[in-house]
Amino acid sequence: MRTIDYIRISVTDRCNLRCVYCMPENGVDLLKHQDMMSFEEIYNLILALVPAGIKKIRLTGGEPLVRNGIEKLIKMLRSIPEIEDITLTTNGILLEEMAEGLKAAGLSRINVSLDSLDEIRFKQITRWGSLEKVLKGIDKAIDIGLKPVKINVVAIKGFNDDEFINFVEYAYKKEVQVRFIELMPIGESDDEAILKHYPIADIKELIETKFQLEETSDIKTNGPAENYRIIGGKGSVGFIGALSHKFCSTCNRLRLTADGRIRPCLYIDKEYDVLKLIRDEASPDELRAFVEEIILGKPEGHNMEDGWGNQRRKMSQIGG
Ligand code: SAM
Ligand code: SF4
Repeated sequence: MRTIDYIRISVTDRCNLRCVYCMPENGVDLLKHQDMMSFEEIYNLILALVPAGIKKIRLTGGEPLVRNGIEKLIKMLRSIPEIEDITLTTNGILLEEMAEGLKAAGLSRINVSLDSLDEIRFKQITRWGSLEKVLKGIDKAIDIGLKPVKINVVAIKGFNDDEFINFVEYAYKKEVQVRFIELMPIGESDDEAILKHYPIADIKELIETKFQLEETSDIKTNGPAENYRIIGGKGSVGFIGALSHKFCSTCNRLRLTADGRIRPCLYIDKEYDVLKLIRDEASPDELRAFVEEIILGKPEGHNMEDGWGNQRRKMSQIGG
C-alpha cells in the first residue's frame, strides 16, 4: 500500500474573495452549518487516521481564515503528538491580524496565494481583494517566523506572464518561496485553462534569463514542487506542473472536504462520505479501515486534459 501521510482539510466552503478562475461572482451554493464537519469531528477523524500514517495536515478552503475559531482547531490538532506539521493555505486578506494567534495555536508555516503584484490586476483577478493587505500579511508572517512563507502564483498566459520576473525579484529581496503553479482546468477555469496554460518549463527558462537558479532538495515541502535557490537572493523559487508533469504515482495526500467527504484525488470526481460514518458513531478502527480502503483504491493517474465540465464541485468546495 502506498504511504499516505498528508491530508488537506477544507474547513469551509466560504470565501471573502471571488477569484475569477475559482468562484463565480455570486459565489456557490453554500453548505448549511449543520452539514459541515465540526472541529471535534475533524479532530476525532485525524486521531483515528494517525495509525494509518497521517503525520501532516494542511488547512484550506474556501478561505480557512474565515472559519470561526480556526485557531482552536489548530490547537486541537497540535495536541496529537504524531502530527508533525500543520500548515495552512490562505488568500492572505486576514493574515496580518490573525498571524500571531495562528502561530500561538501551533501553526507550523503558511502558504499565501497571490497572482499579481499590481493592485489593479489583483482586483481584477480576486474581484474585490486588497493587495496591500495581503503584502502586509506576508510581512507579518515572515516577522513572526511562520516560515518558510510560500507564495503560490497561478501562472496565467496573457494575464500575469509579464510579472513572473517581478515575483522572482520579490523572492530575491524577501525571505519567501515563490511557487509557480500551472492553471488547472477546474471549476471556473475549465474552458480557459488550456488556452491560458503557461508550462512551468517555459517559466523557468524565462526566469533563467535574469536569475541564476540552483536546484535544491533541502527546502521543506509536502508536495510535488521542484525547488531552486536564487543565487545571491534571500528567497527561493518553486515550480508545480500540475498539467505538464503528472505526479500522481508519487501523490502522498488525501483530501477532506468541509462536508466530510474523503476525496482521494483532486481531479477525479470520487468522494466517500466519512462524516456519515462519524455521525453514525463508527469506532476509530472502523474509520481507519474505511479510509485505508479508499487509499488502496487511490487512482494512479488523472485525465486533467479532458476538462472539468460544469456539473462538478468548484475548487473552493474541494479545497485546492
Ligand atoms: N482561499 C485559499 C487560497 O486562495 O489560498 C485556499 C483555497 S484555494 C481553492 C487553494 C489554491 O487553489 C489557491 O492557491 C488557488 O490559487 C488555487 N486554485 C484555485 N483554482 C485553481 C485552478 N483552476 N488552477 C490552479 N490553481 C487553482
Ligand atoms: Fe477564495 Fe481561494 Fe478560491 Fe480565491 S482561490 S476564490 S481566495 S477559495
